[in-house]
Order: sequence, then C-alpha cells, then structure tokens
Amino acid sequence: MTPLEQKLHFDRIIERVEKARLRMNDHHIVKIVAASKYVDAEAIKSLYAIGQRAFGENKVQDLVTKSETLDELPIEWHFIGTLQKNKINHLLSVRPHLLHSIDSLELAHALNERLEREDMTLRALVQINSAYEESKSGFFPEEIHEKYLQILEECPRLQLQGVMSIGAHTEEPTIVRKSFETTRRIFETLPKATVCSMGMSGDFELAIECGSNMVRLGSILFQK
Ligand SMILES: *Cc1c(COP(=O)(O)O)cnc(C)c1O
Repeated sequence: MTPLEQKLHFDRIIERVEKARLRMNDHHIVKIVAASKYVDAEAIKSLYAIGQRAFGENKVQDLVTKSETLDELPIEWHFIGTLQKNKINHLLSVRPHLLHSIDSLELAHALNERLEREDMTLRALVQINSAYEESKSGFFPEEIHEKYLQILEECPRLQLQGVMSIGAHTEEPTIVRKSFETTRRIFETLPKATVCSMGMSGDFELAIECGSNMVRLGSILFQK
C-alpha cells in the first residue's frame, strides 16, 4: 500500500469503529491498539506516521526488539500475549504502558514481587476466558471476581484497570456476542475497572456494541 492508500484504509476502519461506538452511545470512547505482531518496525512506523500511537505485541522478544528499534518515537506499547514468568524481567525492561493478560494468581504474584524489587508499578488487565475455551488462557467468569479482588489486595504494584477477553472462536455471532456480554457484565462489577479490552479484526464492531472500549486490531490494519 502507498502511504495514501494506507491512510484511506485506516480512515475506513476508524469510521467503522466510530459507527459502532455511536450505536453503543454518544459518550462511549473506544481506543484502538494496533496488534503489530505480523509486521516489522517499518510498518509500525508508517502507521505511526498517520496517527496511530498505541501498539501491542504478543511476544516479549518482539516487543523488546521493536521498541528498541523505534526508541525515538513516543509509542504507547501494550503487551497482549500470554506472559511466561521467566520473561517478566524482559517485559519490565520495556516499561510497557499496559499488560492485558494476567491469567493466573502465580503470574500476578511473580510480577508484583519483581515490580517491588525494581520499585516500579505496572498497569494491567486481568484476562477472562469468557467462552470457556481450552485453547485460551484466563480466569473463568465464576472465579474472576474473587481473583481480581485478591490481586488488588495482594499485588499493590499492579495497577489493575479492568479486563481483557478474546471473543468466542466461532462464526456464530450469537455465541460471540454472548462471550462479549459476559465479559462486559463482569467488567461492570469490578472496582477501579475502566478498561474493557475486547474485539479483534473479525469481531470488533460487535465487541464495541457490547461495551468494549479498547479493541486490538491486527490483520485488518496491516493487510495489503
Ligand atoms: C493477534 C492478536 C490480536 C489481533 O488479531 P487480529 O485478528 O489479527 O486482529 C488481538 N489480540 C491478541 C491477544 C492477539 O494476539
């Protein structure tokens, strides 16, 4: 894509986000995190050039490499993948803006300990496996409330801001909608929760209509 084509393509996606958010309500603001795992630093730079500021990676090594390469740009980096405990130091070296994917108490405790040692804090979301899928990490809907409160209490270095979920893996919109509605309902009951991160290229409009205020868009943004 030429820069102009890319700009037009991006504008069309923003317009779709805009329409979906207005269907939710006038005051509903949605943030786009560009999931840049499919592309190199050059492509991130060209999306940055047309106004995108938040980028998310799902592998710690890629986050480290790309953020170093793009060090001169004030990019807001997100980590959206499953985090292994042995990668925590590496992740923290980047000082990411937001970690989307706390999926166990062990991980929360390990993060808190490391943050304590480094005298840092980290904004984070707790991941919900709202469609009960084997292949996904995260807490189940019936345990999330208790675990969230426990992390709030036991891990003061983690600044919990809400939840992240991946929509049900099916073509059936009623099932996907149900998984988003489950996440949204839980989000509303959690203290200090302001971020509801759900919606990807294939389902972001539905996610926004169900109350998402942060969408993670990858393939749709970077496709040729
Ligand atoms: C890759 C990825 C996305 C974006 O997926 P697309 O379907 O390409 O938009 C969103 N969230 C997570 C956690 C991802 O790993």
